[in-house]
Amino acid sequence: MGESAFGVRYNHAMATILLTNDDGLWSPGLVALRRVVASLGTVVTVAPDHNYSAVARGITIDRPLHIQPATFGDGFPGYAVDGTPVDCVRLALLGLAGPRPDFVVAGINLGANMGDDVTYSGTVAAALEAVLLNVPAVAVSVASREPRYLSETAGLIVPFLDRALAGGLPPRTLINLNLPDVPRSDVQGARLTRLGRASYHDQVIVMSDGGRPTTYSMRALKNGGDASDEAGTDFAAVREGYLSLTPLLFDFGGDRGARALGDWDLDGLFGRATAAVS
Ligand code: MN
Repeated sequence: MGESAFGVRYNHAMATILLTNDDGLWSPGLVALRRVVASLGTVVTVAPDHNYSAVARGITIDRPLHIQPATFGDGFPGYAVDGTPVDCVRLALLGLAGPRPDFVVAGINLGANMGDDVTYSGTVAAALEAVLLNVPAVAVSVASREPRYLSETAGLIVPFLDRALAGGLPPRTLINLNLPDVPRSDVQGARLTRLGRASYHDQVIVMSDGGRPTTYSMRALKNGGDASDEAGTDFAAVREGYLSLTPLLFDFGGDRGARALGDWDLDGLFGRATAAVS
């Protein structure tokens, strides 16, 4: 039994908690996370040495990886890896960067990870990698690239993490948590949500058209008035000042996909293809 800096009483055995992110080891989001999680267990930080946002579940396979012990700006020790967030999680879970963690928290990402966008996210992928390796994991993001209130709202996740550490999370399910960037006194509470739909228009800027190859800058512009306004979604919760908790169970298609193609005559289709080749 102990007491954290946020007055939360915890009674789970001291866990080893891996902190990682995709914004890179110098991100203020990682510092904020470490500050609030430090009292919940033994913290191991293994983070990419530069910003790997939007690399999703990418891994490094074309070169060896380096793990460097590092002391962060806030005096905390950890490890810097010249690889992706998922590389960091894999190395840490192999016990190659300090004690093997039994819980993973990724973040706090500067910028929301909601709706369809979670499939781009290195933060969410880091947590996904952990749950696929049977280690419970939470991804945490704040809904601003330049958050103003993170230092006061980050502590709000401590009771939840404390409960998750004590009681466990559902197997193969990661919790995707998004914080609104509002003063702590304006946070309305927390909502269990589902992923909304992010809708974008791509804006393409031609950078040079004189030489070859032509280069482009592609930027996604948010399209207003889409399905993300639906009640019950992560977008709606955060917009209304709530913390959003979305349990994510990765099942790309599953039974629904099989049902959709269930009445296709595959024997006929592939039989015909084979006959045409021979
Ligand atoms: Mn990021």
